[in-house]
Amino acid sequence: MNKKNYLLYFMLVGIVSGIFCGWFYGEKMQAVEWIGDIFLDLLKMLVIPLIVSSMIVGVSGLGDIRKVGKTGVITLVYFMATTAISVALGLLMVNLINPGLGVTMTAGEVPAKISEKEALGITDIFKSFVSDNLVDSMANMDILPIVIFSLIFGGVLTTLGDKGRPVIAFFDGVNEAIMKVVHLVMYIAPIGVFALVASKLGAAGGGELFWAEIMKLGKFALTVLLGLLTHAAVVLPLILYFVTGRNPLVYLKNASEALTTAFSTASSSATLPVTVECAEEKNKVSRKASLFVLPIGATVNMDGTAMYESVSAIFIAQMVGIHLGFGDQVIVFLTATLAAIGAAGIPEAGLVTMVMVLHAVGLPLEGIGMLLSIDWFLDRCRTATNVWGDSIGAAVVDTLEEKYVEKGE
Ligand code: ASP
Repeated sequence: MNKKNYLLYFMLVGIVSGIFCGWFYGEKMQAVEWIGDIFLDLLKMLVIPLIVSSMIVGVSGLGDIRKVGKTGVITLVYFMATTAISVALGLLMVNLINPGLGVTMTAGEVPAKISEKEALGITDIFKSFVSDNLVDSMANMDILPIVIFSLIFGGVLTTLGDKGRPVIAFFDGVNEAIMKVVHLVMYIAPIGVFALVASKLGAAGGGELFWAEIMKLGKFALTVLLGLLTHAAVVLPLILYFVTGRNPLVYLKNASEALTTAFSTASSSATLPVTVECAEEKNKVSRKASLFVLPIGATVNMDGTAMYESVSAIFIAQMVGIHLGFGDQVIVFLTATLAAIGAAGIPEAGLVTMVMVLHAVGLPLEGIGMLLSIDWFLDRCRTATNVWGDSIGAAVVDTLEEKYVEKGE
């Protein structure tokens, strides 16, 4: 066994034994929740310094501000295109499988964070790009304004010549040091993922109860999982292969630590340190591309979430017997894309921004209550898809940047 692969194999053993223990020992496994929390907090603790230093080093690595602009456009086109494909795929699946037909909506309790949520408008999404207080944003892990600030700050540093260089060198050092800390934290990753998975499945009442819940919404869960799998196992690898010529299986193996962490934490943001490590060190994506693309991706690029939002909206419409015609489905398509961009990279954020999609086509919020019992599980699957989309994005942007920006072909 290759020495470098040990960690991945241990993490896989951690997840499988976590499922096993959570399944059979149920609530008792909540006793190990604290271990999972420590792992999660250690990762989260690195996120803010990592984002600030990554964006600054990434932007300055790209060179002058025009190159940053071009690379930014390539990145956004990749994000928008893959999110749009994912939503379209979700809509196709849900219209073919019709998981909501014949299901009666039972009024589940909608948590206050959702029912009290005003529908997000497009202007709110733009407003969330900036903040009047960066320290406040950092304290609340409100990541988008920090990404935007660091992007502008890094861009400006490149224009300062001699005065800017030591500042860039400082953040470069910070970034290297943070990545070393990531290495250290990953030593406890196998036990961390074990504890996260076992305690969450335990909190859901163990395997039997979870299975009963998932079976109640069986067709819906199947539609989501089939959609995510098609996107993650077919669409994204094809893009990777045709744009970069890389072998998707090798890329997957090298990104697996990030995907297992995403599955266990249900948070793209908390996974970011591991995503960067896998892209840079294992998949050998250039440092400037991975440091530029991944922090933005963890915040705005959520293919899995976008698909989930569209499938859920149509599922709820089918349950309550509201027929959504082509025009309404276009609205679902657009709002689901926006809702995914607006969703933070934290657990169950997609459920909260779904309010926007449901409002747009006049569907009842109570529908969300139905999804709660299995959302924690589907959240993990969509988070892994989100992180996989970001990881592939880093390689795609790396290749295109090299070709069109660096060499100016
Ligand atoms: N948990 C997801 C993420 O962090 C967001 C969501 O709820 O869909 O990527």
